[in-house]
Amino acid sequence: MQFERLSDFSGKGSYLLFSFPMYTKIKIDMNIDTSYDAEFIDYDNDGVPNVLHNINFLENKDVRFLKKLVQEEKNFFHYCPFCKKELPIIYKGLELDNKLSSSLLTTYSYIYSMSEEFEIYEEDAIKDAAKRFEELIKQIFGDNGLLQMNLECTSKDKHKFYVIFQLIDNHYIMKTGQYPSILDFDDSLKEYKKVLKDKEITKELTNAEILKTHNMGVGAFLYLRRIFEKLILEQFTQANHAGALEEKEFMKAKTKEKVVMLSEKGYISKYMADINPYIYDILSQGVHQLDNRECNMYYDTLREAILLILEEKVEIDRKEKVKKKTKNELNKIHSNLPQ
Ligand SMILES: [Zn+2]
Repeated sequence: MQFERLSDFSGKGSYLLFSFPMYTKIKIDMNIDTSYDAEFIDYDNDGVPNVLHNINFLENKDVRFLKKLVQEEKNFFHYCPFCKKELPIIYKGLELDNKLSSSLLTTYSYIYSMSEEFEIYEEDAIKDAAKRFEELIKQIFGDNGLLQMNLECTSKDKHKFYVIFQLIDNHYIMKTGQYPSILDFDDSLKEYKKVLKDKEITKELTNAEILKTHNMGVGAFLYLRRIFEKLILEQFTQANHAGALEEKEFMKAKTKEKVVMLSEKGYISKYMADINPYIYDILSQGVHQLDNRECNMYYDTLREAILLILEEKVEIDRKEKVKKKTKNELNKIHSNLPQ
């Protein structure tokens, strides 16, 4: 998912507040939007319907989302890092001047359209939008261009959170602070931490996450690639112990071929084999050719893929354990059967 302008976060407000990387510029577009509707009035003498057309000039959807974000009272279900569970989080909303609350700038209504008339309305709407926006950012960001949003969890302890946005060049905002941190809000690694044998992997996943939250996507990619390579090596060690693969031949192979070799011997999850044709290419390109912006954009998807691989690995390891255990038990039962 690409997040470049503010309205890209529509419906994803909590992601913007708690998980979106800091120090990343988000554009607030000023071009006005239009919507159209029409109403039937009556029939003329020839029985032809007279229709009134309305072109509504509206503030840009980025501006509309900004108002919604800061002004509306919110109550949403989200993870609280202190309670360590999901519960309703509330935001009280900032009171804005009443005259700024509507997003309708003006409406051009006509039965027969005249392009000059339209242009006059449009010009007025653009001027009005600029004036209102100036007033709006003054009210939201104050003289120093800062907005602090305070939130609270609904447990009896009422844990407090805050997020700080900085207005830049009047047309961008950037998250420059938040408490608790982005990492604190991320509980997705919890279950892997318990089961992964290689503690380095969880450490590297955390490092990747830290870099990503600070808008350093290339570095984050590097860690993801290392994790991928480690997972392959870990599977190889298992296969090698079982005598399924030889070290010399394996080490000579390219990463993609290694995955194929492991897959053929049944040492790699089906999902990992499925995504093998592209995941390593993307990770390597990221490190060598893509810039931070591109890496940031692709990061979440790649991380999700790595987490899925880990999830499958955990499940495979668990099954192997249970299989071994039940096999031993069955063996015992069998040997105790009356001859
Ligand atoms: Zn809480």
